[in-house]
Amino acid sequence: MATKGAVATTSQTEDGADRVELYGRLTAPFEATFRDIRGGVELEYITGEQAISRLNEALGVANWSFRILEHGINSDADECWALGEITAQIDDRMVVRQQFGSQKVKRSRASGTPLDIGFDLKGAATDALKKCASLLGVALYLWKKEVPAEPTPLQPLAGRGADSDGAACEECGESLTEVRFKDGTSWPPAQLASYGRRKHSRVLCMSHYREANEAKRRAEAALQQVPF
Ligand SMILES: [Zn+2]
Repeated sequence: MATKGAVATTSQTEDGADRVELYGRLTAPFEATFRDIRGGVELEYITGEQAISRLNEALGVANWSFRILEHGINSDADECWALGEITAQIDDRMVVRQQFGSQKVKRSRASGTPLDIGFDLKGAATDALKKCASLLGVALYLWKKEVPAEPTPLQPLAGRGADSDGAACEECGESLTEVRFKDGTSWPPAQLASYGRRKHSRVLCMSHYREANEAKRRAEAALQQVPF
C-alpha cells in the first residue's frame, strides 16, 4: 500500500470529519446497478462510466488518475487481462492501489477469429478500473458475499431427487423447473428450492426467487443510506 509524493500539510481540525465525509461519498450506494449470472451465481455490478463519475464527483476530476501497468491475452482462458493502478489524492496524500481486470475475447461465430482485441483489452482495463475504485470504497458493498452463502458445486445438494419431486413455489404454486443460464450452467429444481430456503426461508420459482433477491437488495440498500 504505497503512499508517496505529497507532504502532508498542516492538519486541519475537521480532518476526521472530512475523511468520513469523503469516504461516505466514495462508498454511497448507486441508484441503478446491473445484474448478470456467471457460473450460476448472480452478480450485481456498476458500469465503468458509473465508477468514473463517482471518482470525479467524490475526489474531483484533477485528483485521481488511472493507468494500465501490464496487459496480456491468456489463450487458455481466452481472456484479455490488465493490471491497473489508481492514484488518488485523499487527505493530502497520494494513495496508490492496484488490481487486475479481465474480459473474455469475443470471437466471430463463423470464423472463430477475434472480432476486436482492442475492444476486449479496453473491457479488461475498465474491469481493472472498477476493481481499483472498489479498493477506495466505490461500489465495495456489491462485493460483499451474500449470507448465508450459496452452496458450491462441490457440496452435495440436499434432497436432489426424491425431495425435489413436486417442489412448488410458495408464492405462485408453480412446480419448480430446471433453470438454465446463458453461460451453460443450470440449477436443477432441488438446487433452486435449496437456495430459496436458505436465502428466503421458502421454496420459490426462479422469477419469485429473483423478486425476493431484489426486495432483499433494496432493503439492504435502504439500510446503507442511513447517514453515519
Ligand atoms: Zn413463483
